[in-house]
Parts: sequence; structure tokens; C-alpha cells
Amino acid sequence: MNYSRQRDIILQTLKANVVHPTAEYLYAVLKEKEPNISLATLYRNLNQLSDNGIIKKIDGLEVPSHYDHNTHEHYHFMCDECKRVFDVSCDVAPDIVQKAEDETGFIVKKHDIIFNGICRDCLEKIKESN
Ligand SMILES: [Zn+2]
Ligand SMILES: [Zn+2]
Repeated sequence: MNYSRQRDIILQTLKANVVHPTAEYLYAVLKEKEPNISLATLYRNLNQLSDNGIIKKIDGLEVPSHYDHNTHEHYHFMCDECKRVFDVSCDVAPDIVQKAEDETGFIVKKHDIIFNGICRDCLEKIKESN
């Protein structure tokens, strides 16, 4: 399989997963379509895609890293129960960069916000089991 086809398949698989998958999860899905693909190949492609800004590696969550095809600026919410990662719009704090710069006199180049808590699905399950 040539390089660009591999890359396309990996990107497609990532886009089809709205839950910010880990490499291990992607690998399990990819294996169904492309039994010959190796985990090393997947990691190499993911690194290249994120180095080129085509996808985003979400750092600061737990290891293993999660990957995101949405490179527009947005925040994340990680559920402590199911470990899924959800998108949160930047609209929740539109002037956060300005405020941080005003407060410190520094220039903000990038920022990441990760909320941790319990997602709606897990909240429902907790309610039902009580
Ligand atoms: Zn959850
Ligand atoms: Zn995201």
C-alpha cells in the first residue's frame, strides 16, 4: 500500500470517529479494513499529520494521546467515567486570551483547556443505578 493511500485511510478513519480516539482505538478500527497495517505505521502517519497541522494531537489528557481531526480552536471535556473526549466551543470563554494577556502583560501564543468531569450519558447511568 503506498504512503498517500495509507494516510488517506487513516485520516478517513479518524474523521469517522467523533470521539477523539486514541491510536490504539484507531488501530483496532483500521485493522478491519487494512489487515496489513502496523501500529508503527499508524503512529508515523499520525505524527506526520499532526506535525503538518492536518490533525491535532491532544496533549495534557492522560496517556495514550487522543487525536482530533478538528483543528479549529476548541476546548475539550474529558469524562472521568467513560474516558471519552468531547468538544467544547470556545464561546464559553471568548475573551480568555485577552484577559490572560491583560493580567500578565504576556503574549499568549496558544492555550488548551481541558475540562474534566462526568458526561451526560454517564450522569444518566449514575442516576439510574441510584
Ligand atoms: Zn462518560
Ligand atoms: Zn476536539
